[in-house]
Amino acid sequence: MYAIAIHGGAGALPAQGLSIERQRLYHDGLAAALDCGYAVLERGGSSLDAVTAAVRVLEDDPLFNSARGAALTREGGAELDAALMDGHTLRAGAVATVRHVKNPIELARRVMEKSRHVLLVGAGAEEFALEEGFELVPNAYFRTAERHEELEHLRSGRTVSELMPSPQGTVGAVARDAAGHLAAATSTGGMANKRPGRVGDSPIIGAGTYAKDGVCAVSATGHGEYFMRLVAAHHIAASVEYRGVGLTAAVRETLHERLRDLGGTGGIIAVDGEGHICLDFTTEGMFRAARDSKGLRVVASGAATR
Ligand code: ASP
Repeated sequence: MYAIAIHGGAGALPAQGLSIERQRLYHDGLAAALDCGYAVLERGGSSLDAVTAAVRVLEDDPLFNSARGAALTREGGAELDAALMDGHTLRAGAVATVRHVKNPIELARRVMEKSRHVLLVGAGAEEFALEEGFELVPNAYFRTAERHEELEHLRSGRTVSELMPSPQGTVGAVARDAAGHLAAATSTGGMANKRPGRVGDSPIIGAGTYAKDGVCAVSATGHGEYFMRLVAAHHIAASVEYRGVGLTAAVRETLHERLRDLGGTGGIIAVDGEGHICLDFTTEGMFRAARDSKGLRVVASGAATR
């Protein structure tokens, strides 16, 4: 069985609810990314290619908090983090606080494939991008009017309008391909109103992103500091591998007990070695979607798990 799941961030659902029009935009954005990743798996492609393709679509969509449409720092800039991991080889690549790379997930992948390192940050990451011929864009490319509005609201202590689920967000994908290999990818603008230089859980292997064949692939969204302190994605993998806990139970325990006990909230998408998908969150909602070769296809944002 092959399978893919994606998320577009977890958070509070706006009290008055998203307008029908806006719900449709989110739904269409998720569906486009899901189907793009699924198409890779369907034609026999790797899970690594599938998660890269799906995350790239979400990065280009200004509705979601990654690349174009990223949440802004308190100084109004976009600083982007991304990571991916290949469960087959346990190789991983990540970038943090990049300001000019159009698709950070592609750069994370290049770090994995072409450098001797796992994580490159800031100017060094962008120097590497230049050397590798990546498309660089002005920081203004990432900054949308909605994100400026969000920042103004947060700065003045007001809550955000209908637009963003919370000051957080993030996009991610996990997949199992027909050969049984797992991969995970995550990309984010981080928390809105963050200090410049702040790095969250998304690009930290084991915290917001992790994959290991035969065990699970995990991508997280939520308050990154808590996911980092819990090493949440690896905690889930370790629970599955060493304690023999099923994926759903491992995710549930991590989110609803361990993370909650620390005071953190958020969501997880994960897939196990057989291709079973888990979508769970402790926030009011999570933009999420999943599809597998047995006919599952779901695109959702509201309360019920899955
Ligand atoms: N986890 C991300 C971070 O803390 C944000 C999010 O997913 O909401 O950077």
